[in-house]
Amino acid sequence: MAKNITIIGAGIVGITTASYLRRDGHDVTVVDMRPPGEYCSFGNAGILSPGSCVPQALPGVLGKVPGYLSDPLGPLAIRPGHFFKALPWFLRLVAASRLSRVEQIADALRPLLKQTFDAYLPLVQHANVADLIRQTGYVVAYDTRSGFQKDALPWQLRRERGVLMEELDSAGIRQKVPQLGGHYEAGLYLPEQGFVTNPERLTKSLAEQFQKDGGRIVQRKVLDIEVAPDGPRALVTDAGNMAVETLVICAGSHSNEFSAKFGDSVPLEAERGYHVTYSDPNFTLPMPVFLPQQKFFVTPMEMGLRIAGQSEFAGNDAEPNYARADVLATQMQKVFPGISNVDATKWMGRRPATPDSLPVIGPASKMPNVWYAFGHGHVGLCGGAPTGRLMADLIAGRPPSMDVAPFRATRF
Ligand SMILES: Cc1cc2nc3c(=O)[nH]c(=O)nc-3n(C[C@H](O)[C@H](O)[C@H](O)COP(=O)(O)OP(=O)(O)OC[C@H]3O[C@@H](n4cnc5c(N)ncnc54)[C@H](O)[C@@H]3O)c2cc1C
Repeated sequence: MAKNITIIGAGIVGITTASYLRRDGHDVTVVDMRPPGEYCSFGNAGILSPGSCVPQALPGVLGKVPGYLSDPLGPLAIRPGHFFKALPWFLRLVAASRLSRVEQIADALRPLLKQTFDAYLPLVQHANVADLIRQTGYVVAYDTRSGFQKDALPWQLRRERGVLMEELDSAGIRQKVPQLGGHYEAGLYLPEQGFVTNPERLTKSLAEQFQKDGGRIVQRKVLDIEVAPDGPRALVTDAGNMAVETLVICAGSHSNEFSAKFGDSVPLEAERGYHVTYSDPNFTLPMPVFLPQQKFFVTPMEMGLRIAGQSEFAGNDAEPNYARADVLATQMQKVFPGISNVDATKWMGRRPATPDSLPVIGPASKMPNVWYAFGHGHVGLCGGAPTGRLMADLIAGRPPSMDVAPFRATRF
């Protein structure tokens, strides 16, 4: 039966969820204070990696925390002023890093991400933007063979879950990406992965198609939610109240502010990342490149080359620290000496990060007619369309294509 559904959040997760719900014939309204795709979904690395099922925290993470605190511009840093606020989240992250839990997380995430290309295809074809999606594979390049060997676990976890990869030596890396400067002793090629050539245009194009198909997007800030014992009543917004029947929370790193209204306390951090986009680099790459030792991706986008990475824990509201983007720019000069930084632009975005690297997908635990789809952390672009399709199944009462129990809000 068609429902009246309101979604908070017009990022990639909100828009793909809206698109799949609209395809089911529901009456769907998306509410966001910004135009579609202008928060975290704006400036990510664009990587579509069905193989990215390994959580952020692996065994041994505890020993690395002092380093995170002592190097404010390192690839992972906690701003000292935010440390005590984030401490409970980090304790959960450490608890999720034991091997048995890491295996469970990878088992839960792989079936979701495996659907990435398959779930995007009908949406991008319908919106006439299939050109945005490329399945070229990507290259992983390590400076040293010992660095590659130290990272054996995450690659083994992927391989055990059916992710295809080919080992590369120095010559093999150069052959796949001849433009790559520097010397890399070892690496991998992952043929089934790919990328989006412009993540902002992807979200905006799907949003435009959703509206052509009869969906509504309303630009308002949600300040509060009026709740009755049998479900949500209205969104209190900066432009008056909006009555709601079925509500879906896709508000990225702000989602737990809303889930708390319904009695679900979800530990969520804004894991802030940065990019620098070079609009006139004078060359492009045949596919994205990942440098795990430096922890960044370089992606060939339609607007130039983008380097993206960094994890900074400072809360949602702290000002960006663009010195972190400058660190990426310095890395970029090392990898591509002489790259032109004319018109290079910098950006900061907030990954909605749970401590176990799994999203929250499914119904609110105590309140009827409330659903969640948030917390995708590093894989929200890959996970967007599969989540949207899953949400449409769940809301329609169809059996979901995979086990969603690991994504429940009450797991924390
Ligand atoms: C540097 C970087 C690189 C990344 N690279 C990749 C990658 O290569 N591949 C990948 O899969 N993922 C990547 N990610 C992660 C990915 O970008 C995110 O997981 C994804 O964008 C999250 O989408 P979302 O829709 O959940 O949230 P968002 O895009 O943040 O959308 C949430 C929306 O909710 C709205 N909202 C919040 N509060 C309110 C309110 N009170 N009222 C109204 N609206 C509200 C916001 O305005 C926003 O539009 C990267 C992230 C970063 C920072």
